[in-house]
Amino acid sequence: MSLSSSQKAVLTGAIRGKIRWDAPLSEWTTYRIGGPADALVTLLDVEDLQGVLRLCRRQKLRWKLLGRGSNILAADEGFRGIIIVLGEGFKYIGRDHQQDDEEVLLNTGAGVSLARLSSWCAEHGLSGFEFAAGIPGSVGGAVVMNAGGWGRSMADVIRQIEMVDHEKIENISEEHLGFSYRACRALAERKETVVTGAVMKFKAADPAQIRETIRTLRHKRQQRQPYGQPNCGSVFKNPEGTSAGRLIDEAGLKGRRIGDAEVSEKHANFIVNRGKATARDVVALMDEIKEKVLLTSGVELRPEVQFLC
Ligand SMILES: Cc1cc2nc3c(=O)[nH]c(=O)nc-3n(C[C@H](O)[C@H](O)[C@H](O)COP(=O)(O)OP(=O)(O)OC[C@H]3O[C@@H](n4cnc5c(N)ncnc54)[C@H](O)[C@@H]3O)c2cc1C
Repeated sequence: MSLSSSQKAVLTGAIRGKIRWDAPLSEWTTYRIGGPADALVTLLDVEDLQGVLRLCRRQKLRWKLLGRGSNILAADEGFRGIIIVLGEGFKYIGRDHQQDDEEVLLNTGAGVSLARLSSWCAEHGLSGFEFAAGIPGSVGGAVVMNAGGWGRSMADVIRQIEMVDHEKIENISEEHLGFSYRACRALAERKETVVTGAVMKFKAADPAQIRETIRTLRHKRQQRQPYGQPNCGSVFKNPEGTSAGRLIDEAGLKGRRIGDAEVSEKHANFIVNRGKATARDVVALMDEIKEKVLLTSGVELRPEVQFLC
């Protein structure tokens, strides 16, 4: 059920950030798919965030945190409830007050994009984040997904994260986060929690060398991935010891299309939106891929993309 006018009034009075009613999720996800969310709120800071979380609890409203929407398939029907986006107060980058001899520690807001943070690191001669330069997510989304590439992931650079729920702010250090391939146990266990910031560790290095590594990795991505067609990155997680893309390719599914959703010719683990793809098209194609790959290889694929419905 959509928000009542009294719920809308309470929400309007409770936050300092911006509210959009009936916000099309297709405009907030890299897939360019998804119907309207009842409300999409862009919040200013932790106080604003906790205000909304408390209100949602009191009013029994559903909510979901959206980072940069780069790993999301949003339902055609949209989302009944409130989509929370982290605004300006979550976009800081600075040196942490505690430093050690080996590493340089940075304090970053969860709303910072990985692209901006990797450029910042290159500019300031800090190495360790080159792998993330081409991943179109935010720090918060990348922590939740333990995003990675080229043999590295967020687990290698996170020292500590800051998490917030409706009543408390908690700092959790790396050893308690339980990172594994594309997952973070501590966050999976705390569904009502938002990552608001992270302390990350890097090493001093030559800025020119860092920039060169970033350029090389970006170039490799452009060669291997379908640039210019909306997508959500890898649709399925790589099974132990093999690549989902290879299994899908071997099942003969490159180019297979349902509606406007198509298995990319360039990389079989990408389903691209050829224009007007719906979430239903993508899900139908995912089901077919899972079924055919199970038949041809005996491997059961598991989705990496997160469903927002
Ligand atoms: C072209 C392309 C290339 C990609 N390449 C890679 C790659 O190389 N490696 C890789 O790992 N991924 C890749 N991805 C997938 C995606 O970019 C990552 O998973 C990224 O980390 C998602 O971040 P996000 O901010 O977009 O999160 P979203 O997609 O918005 O959200 C992902 C999940 O995290 C949750 N979330 C987001 N922010 C927070 C927060 N602050 N607190 C709590 N929960 C939160 C959301 O609720 C959702 O469940 C790619 C995607 C695209 C489109």
